[in-house]
Amino acid sequence: MSDVDENVQKLEEKIPLSDKIEQVADKEEDESIDNKQENEKDEIDRASAGSPTESVDSSDSDDGEPEEPPDVSTPYPDSKLLIYPMQKMYMCPKCRDLLREPVQNKYCGHYLCYQCYVDVSKLTKRCPMDQVEIGNKPPRVDKEFRDDIWQLEAKCKNNEQGCKWEDTVGKYSEHVTYCEYNSMTCICGTSFPKRFYQRHRDKECGKELIQCEYCESEIYRENKKSHLVECTKLPLPCPNKCDKDLRFPRDELDKHIETECPRTKVVCHFEDIGCSHKSSREKMVKHYAKELTNHVDMLHVEEIKRDELLNKILLKLREHEMMIGNDDERIGNLESINNTQLIWRIEDVSGKMAQAKGGSAESLFHPPFATSKHGYRFSASVCLNGDGKGKGTHMSVFISIHKGDYDVFLKWPFDYRVTFILLDQDEHLNERKHIKYSIKPSPSPENEKFLGRPTMDKNASFGLQKFASHKEIYTRNYIKDNTMLLKISVECPGTDAVFLA
Ligand SMILES: [Zn+2]
Ligand SMILES: [Zn+2]
Ligand SMILES: [Zn+2]
Ligand SMILES: [Zn+2]
Ligand SMILES: [Zn+2]
Ligand SMILES: [Zn+2]
Ligand SMILES: [Zn+2]
Repeated sequence: MSDVDENVQKLEEKIPLSDKIEQVADKEEDESIDNKQENEKDEIDRASAGSPTESVDSSDSDDGEPEEPPDVSTPYPDSKLLIYPMQKMYMCPKCRDLLREPVQNKYCGHYLCYQCYVDVSKLTKRCPMDQVEIGNKPPRVDKEFRDDIWQLEAKCKNNEQGCKWEDTVGKYSEHVTYCEYNSMTCICGTSFPKRFYQRHRDKECGKELIQCEYCESEIYRENKKSHLVECTKLPLPCPNKCDKDLRFPRDELDKHIETECPRTKVVCHFEDIGCSHKSSREKMVKHYAKELTNHVDMLHVEEIKRDELLNKILLKLREHEMMIGNDDERIGNLESINNTQLIWRIEDVSGKMAQAKGGSAESLFHPPFATSKHGYRFSASVCLNGDGKGKGTHMSVFISIHKGDYDVFLKWPFDYRVTFILLDQDEHLNERKHIKYSIKPSPSPENEKFLGRPTMDKNASFGLQKFASHKEIYTRNYIKDNTMLLKISVECPGTDAVFLA
């Protein structure tokens, strides 16, 4: 927008401004018609005057200092612009044109323009009319006579261009300064009468900011052509000539061609499963109708292939699952090597308790672990909602002996102390108060199914039905972050000792 403001400013600079105009206008209003008529009568006297008229300021005759030199920079009509032929008395003998700021030569009484007087006084120093000498310095301007001249009627210098203005010489400058018929040059370099300025800005000027009618962005008029080459909203016809009346904004044309245009060449939807047919989008509809059966057949074949593939993948997946299960067990065993205690982390206690109470999952099982690399193998289980005598009121804990590869070297029946500890997870070590119960198995014939060398995969489990009451486990920090830590330790000697036994 600042460019536009600048235009206006530059234009104004080209128009000369006269600060004298208002003065001129004021003077004219003071003049009366009577005066003017009188002046016309005086014409002959003045033209052939042998002596100064009364109106000449007395100071002139003293050859005194003139006032400030008059301003002769403003527009002034030449004699051809006067409505009536110029009378001789108004003509300057030097420039032979209409007197401007008249001054009178005191030696012969002839009037010259102020400027002409200055010029002559530097050159011939003689009155051009009668060769009488003239003074060195111009006398004061004869303001009364000047006012007479200002009352003459003139037309505008632009009258041939069509300006109809006619008024007094005194008002000439004001008019011509602002005459609509003056030629002006726009910052774009074009010249035209001032009155066409607005039209020029609105319709022609290349330096005028205009709005693109399509994308609404602001551009200089002179850049319109190059803008349209890249304007994203310029309406364009479809290159496929699908509809000669349709136009698409440039940035939507691709979408039309890709997704809508009936003339765009497309590939059959069933390309993936073997149909290689290609045609225009509009003709593809017929293809689908005609080839329906073939396409269904292809799909069927494809479905069978995919089923086979899916089965293969599922098989592989199952194999992997089993491998992962075995690894878990191995890792469980490894954890316990040379360590006769297991810490079982039971997470989501609240969820599991709810399941236990609801009867959907009464027991939690820990995979088998070994007391040492060649030691006893156990599995552990927990009934959060209790078992047997503890059902509904307590949490029960059990272990059972599993068949192991090294059973032959171990001592049977098993009679080592087993301890179950529900860990208090209080942050302060000294505050911790674990719930701890031990079982010292006593071998007897009726306990053989629990403690004897396993003949099946595992023995019957033994443990504590009333290990910890529900009331108790919710106190202290037995459950923290909804997690319980149950430690099970078996106080059997190290592998070597067992082997020795
Ligand atoms: Zn002159
Ligand atoms: Zn003279
Ligand atoms: Zn004019
Ligand atoms: Zn222009
Ligand atoms: Zn545009
Ligand atoms: Zn199209
Ligand atoms: Zn097809």
